[in-house]
Amino acid sequence: MIKKFLLLITLSISLQASSTEGMWVPGMINKLVSGNMESMGMKVSLDDLYAINNSSIKDAVVHFNGGCTSVLVSDQGLLLTNHHCGYSRIQSHSSLEKNYLKDGFWAMSLTEELSNPGMDASIIKEIRDVTDLVLADLSVDASEAERKEHLKKVSGEIIEKAKEETGLDVYIKPFYHGNQYLLFISEIFTDIRLVGAPPSSIGKYGFDTDNWVWPRHTGDFSVFRIYANRENKPADFSEENRPYQPKHFLPVNIQGVEENDYTLVYGFPGTTENYITEVETKNILETVNPLRLKMREASLSVIDEAMRKDELTKIQYAAKQSRISNAYKKWIGQTKGLVRHRVLDKKDSVESLFTKRINENPDWKSSYSTLIAEMEEIENAQLPLSVNRNYFIEFYYMGPEIFRFTEKYRELAAMCKDETITDEAIDAWIAEHSDNSGYFKNYDTSIDGDIMKAQIEYFVEDQKPLDFLNNLKTDKESLTEFVDRLYDESIFNNEASLNSFFDGFKRKNYKKIEADPAYEFSLRLAKFYSDVTRPGLLLYVTKSDSLMRIWMDAQMKVLPERTYSPDANGTLRITFGKVEGYEPFDGAEYAYYTTLEGVMEKEDPTNPEYNVPARLKELYQKKDYGRYAHSTGEMRVAFVASNHTSGGNSGSPVIDANGNLIGLNFDRTWESTMSDIMFNPIICRNISVDIRYVLFIMDKYAGAKHLVDEMKLISE
Ligand code: GLU
Repeated sequence: MIKKFLLLITLSISLQASSTEGMWVPGMINKLVSGNMESMGMKVSLDDLYAINNSSIKDAVVHFNGGCTSVLVSDQGLLLTNHHCGYSRIQSHSSLEKNYLKDGFWAMSLTEELSNPGMDASIIKEIRDVTDLVLADLSVDASEAERKEHLKKVSGEIIEKAKEETGLDVYIKPFYHGNQYLLFISEIFTDIRLVGAPPSSIGKYGFDTDNWVWPRHTGDFSVFRIYANRENKPADFSEENRPYQPKHFLPVNIQGVEENDYTLVYGFPGTTENYITEVETKNILETVNPLRLKMREASLSVIDEAMRKDELTKIQYAAKQSRISNAYKKWIGQTKGLVRHRVLDKKDSVESLFTKRINENPDWKSSYSTLIAEMEEIENAQLPLSVNRNYFIEFYYMGPEIFRFTEKYRELAAMCKDETITDEAIDAWIAEHSDNSGYFKNYDTSIDGDIMKAQIEYFVEDQKPLDFLNNLKTDKESLTEFVDRLYDESIFNNEASLNSFFDGFKRKNYKKIEADPAYEFSLRLAKFYSDVTRPGLLLYVTKSDSLMRIWMDAQMKVLPERTYSPDANGTLRITFGKVEGYEPFDGAEYAYYTTLEGVMEKEDPTNPEYNVPARLKELYQKKDYGRYAHSTGEMRVAFVASNHTSGGNSGSPVIDANGNLIGLNFDRTWESTMSDIMFNPIICRNISVDIRYVLFIMDKYAGAKHLVDEMKLISE
């Protein structure tokens, strides 16, 4: 008996000590967590990770265009991120003649680097806890609406003050579901140039089949550079700009990683929902995910087939296909993981324990006895609207492009109807919006139409009572015939018809815009969402946000033995873990690293997902790995570790115990995408490309050794 008890204690202590769950805010890491980091091997101090007055590792971590992370690796603003993060930029510079997606791109000098209008990269200067300021003067009896109003007003004032004080960009975000407010001061750079990218047969090797999968053999990196003005400050693109000199850049450790080595991932994870209830999890599993999957299967089947058939389509639709398929595959893995690891049961036991404890404490009982039931009620009541919202997102935002393309002409139609607007202003609008060549360059009307045909059945089936197609579609028309007619008749369907329509445009022609079937359908969808779905949902969201805030706070009080890190919200975070393999399912065991050997094993010249470039094969045959080889002589490609990461962590630096770069985070294993809802240290693994593979491809494969020479390599 005693023995069993002791075993349980050691088990729970060791679980606690090795638990790598959590995405922590730099500068606000508590003793317990930092103790864990140290006991797992971290040698750098918390001040090395985050400091305001001195330079620190945070100064090398860069939010890449809002959605990914990147890392500075030279004193000349050289920036590494994932290939999939730079993908749409690489794509936008590509054509059939200069196909950088297929062949890769390498600037051999600064003058060859390619500018990317509209892109930004931002560096966090400081994080401040402004909870007290934000919540001061908020009455305890304030309604949720009053609370929102107060927060908006006070946050606005605090932001303005901080902007004046620093001259930088400032934003405030809620943490722990509104129990804490943090202010972020950041410097945003807008002259970001493409420096290099491997061919997709390296940077995307394994494509969709391998996406979210381990063992993985993808060299998922691309190279950019931040430019600044002569004062080293952010500036829009100019020939006068020069490479940015950062406060800190990461040295690169080329000794490589071994099993159990400490890993720290520093980046900007997007969204997690680690504290949702059992009922909400169940709704995601049983209703929301199946709906999203069904809609994406429909569009992907059209796009994939078209891309297989035609080289130009492959370029035109590459980035769009990735945008759809990435989350599609993740949701499949997430559902599998949540079911297999019985997350509903686990959520249920947390809620049961919570209920048991509050029943033993009269204060808690009076505050929280109805909390879980109320949350369940709201969750179930809002579900039909949430279904509508998800159909809208999948059809309107992720489906046929023609819906989104017609959007901007709503402004023109409104201008034409407004008598206070002059004809000259209308002509000016048309002139300003007349160049649609960028859009049509990547648009194929028959693919777009087929996507609509594939999805519309599901959409209409779900939204039947809403009569979306009323007087758009004739009674006799089938849905397919309706879609064919919509594309035939619409002026928004090809560049020539659009240009000729606007040639000599008269104000009264707005009626033709409004009568255009694609324009009308799009407007109807958008209006239904903004007039019905969104306002309906907002009523529930206000209530559920407030319950979530109470639930978060209540759990921390009632179940204090659990670890609570704030859900991801696109802000800068640190997660720690160690290099380790895992057992994905019964009877299988995965190693912690992959090698170039595996790239060759997967090669299949008949399958475009697994083509290996000739030059890479040559290097492999000669074993010409130079100083990038592992001590065993092999060329390591990727490794897995137990860091708690999410989307947005793509491109994040993976840092060793001493603060040096050892890899770029680019994915999670399929079994572990459940970590957006529940992290399980036994199964959840992030996937990183080994930094030595990155350098090997740059230097040996691409002949861009000058880039490696810019970095500071650590080899002992
Ligand atoms: N590969 C992932 C994505 O593209 C990012 C990393 C993750 O979600 O773990 O969304």
